[in-house]
Amino acid sequence: LANRLQNTMAKIRGKGKVSEADVKEMMREVRLALLEADVNYKVVKDFIKKVSERAVGQEVMKSLTPGQQVIKVVKEELTELMGGEQSKIAVSKRPPTVILMAGLQGAGKTTTTGKLANYLRKKHNRNPLLVAADIYRPAAIKQLETLGKQLGMPVFSLGDKVSPVEIAKQALEYAKNEHHDYVLIDTAGRLHIDENLMDELKQVKEAANPDEIFLVVDAMTGQDAVNVAKSFHDELGITGVILTKLDGDTRGGAALSIRAATGAPIKFAGMGEKLDALEPFHPERMASRILGMGDVLTLIEKAQENVDQEKAKQLEEKMRTMSFTFDDFLEQLEQVRNMGPLDELISMLPGAGKMKGLKNIQVDEKQLSHVEAIIRSMTKEEKEKPEIINASRRKRIAKGSGTSVQEVNRLLKQFEEMKKMMKQMTSMTKGKRKGFKFP
Ligand code: GDP
Ligand code: MG
Repeated sequence: LANRLQNTMAKIRGKGKVSEADVKEMMREVRLALLEADVNYKVVKDFIKKVSERAVGQEVMKSLTPGQQVIKVVKEELTELMGGEQSKIAVSKRPPTVILMAGLQGAGKTTTTGKLANYLRKKHNRNPLLVAADIYRPAAIKQLETLGKQLGMPVFSLGDKVSPVEIAKQALEYAKNEHHDYVLIDTAGRLHIDENLMDELKQVKEAANPDEIFLVVDAMTGQDAVNVAKSFHDELGITGVILTKLDGDTRGGAALSIRAATGAPIKFAGMGEKLDALEPFHPERMASRILGMGDVLTLIEKAQENVDQEKAKQLEEKMRTMSFTFDDFLEQLEQVRNMGPLDELISMLPGAGKMKGLKNIQVDEKQLSHVEAIIRSMTKEEKEKPEIINASRRKRIAKGSGTSVQEVNRLLKQFEEMKKMMKQMTSMTKGKRKGFKFP
C-alpha cells in the first residue's frame, strides 16, 4: 500500500504550487493504494471524494505550503476513516465487566489477554481475573497461567475437560465472590473460520453476556484480516478490535480495512511480545504510518506555530544546498527550545526510527546549554566550516566553553549526522528515495 502512495506524497510534498491536476494524480494513487489494501470500494470512493473536495478548496490552495496541506488533508481523512481515538473500555454497572477475547489462532489472543489485564490494573487500577477458556490448543491453559504468574494475577481454569461455556459461567461466579471488577475470557482460536468453534463462541457469549467482545487481529495478515473481521463481526457482533504485531514492519493497511469493514473501533495496538507492549490505538499515528511519513505533520504544525515562516524558508534552502552551518544550528536550537523536548521532535522525523546515526542524538535539555557554549566558542570560520576543527582547535573550544574535548567531539559528530540526515530528508522530498520505509 504505502510505497506508491509515498512516492506520490514525496513528489507533491515539496511543491510550492499545486494544480488541480496534481491533486487528481495524487488521488488516483491514493485510490489505487487503498483498493489494493482491500478497502471496500464504496469506502474508497467516498474517501476520495471528500479528500478531493477539501484538497482543491481555498484553504489549501491559498496556504503557504499547498503541497503539505494536501497531504495533511489526506492524513486527516485517513485518520477519520479509522475512527477517532478510542481506547475506552466499557465499565459494567454491575461488576464484573466481562471482556471476551476472540480471533484466529496465533493472532495473539492469549498474550493480549495478559497485556490487557496488565493495562487495566496499571492504568485503571482494576483487579482483573483471567479466564482460560481455550481447551483445545495444547498448553493454552498453561500459557495463560504463566502470564498470570508473571503478572501476579489469578487465572481461573477448570482444565480442558470442562466446556468453555461452563468455564465462563463458573468464572463469573468466582469473580463476583472474589471481587474482581474485570473478567477477561481467553478463548480458543481457529485456523480459519470454523462453524463449530464459532457456535461455541456464541454460546460463551450467551452465557457470559460480555460488555466487550474484542477481536484480536494480527496486523501482518493484511488483506485476509478484513474477511476474518467481517465474519467474526457478523457472527458475534464485536465491539472493538485489537491489532497485534504492529511492532513488525507491516504498514498496517489492515487497520483501515477492518475499521471500514466492521465499523468497530480499533482500540489497542500490540507493540511486542512483552506484557507492557499494549498501547491505545492512535488513528493519527496509524495514518502517518500508512502514509510512511512519521509524525512529520505534527512536526510541520509545531514548526508553523513557532518558527518564523521567512526563516523557515531560508532554512529549507540551506538544507537543500547543504550550506547549513553551526550558526544556523544555534539559531535552530533557540527555536527548537520553544517547541518542546528535542528527542521528541527528532523522533517525529520520518525515518527517524530506522536511521542508525540518529540514536546517538539523544539530547537532554541540560546538554543543550553545553552545546550552545561550545558553538559560541567557535570562531566564525569554524562555525561555517567545521571540517577545519582539528585536535588543537578542539582543545581550545573545550577550554573556552568550559566543557571537555569529548563533548566537542560528540557535537561535531552529531552535527555531521544531522547534516547527513537533512540530505536524506531533502532528497526524499524530491522523490528520489523510492521504497524508503518507515517502521
Ligand atoms: P493466540 O493463539 O491468539 O492465543 O496467540 P498467542 O497469544 O499465543 O500469540 C501468538 C504469538 O504471537 C506468540 O508468540 C506471541 O508472543 C506473539 N505476539 C502476540 N502479540 C504480539 C505483538 O503485539 N507483537 C509481537 N511481535 N508478537 C506478538
Ligand atoms: Mg491462545
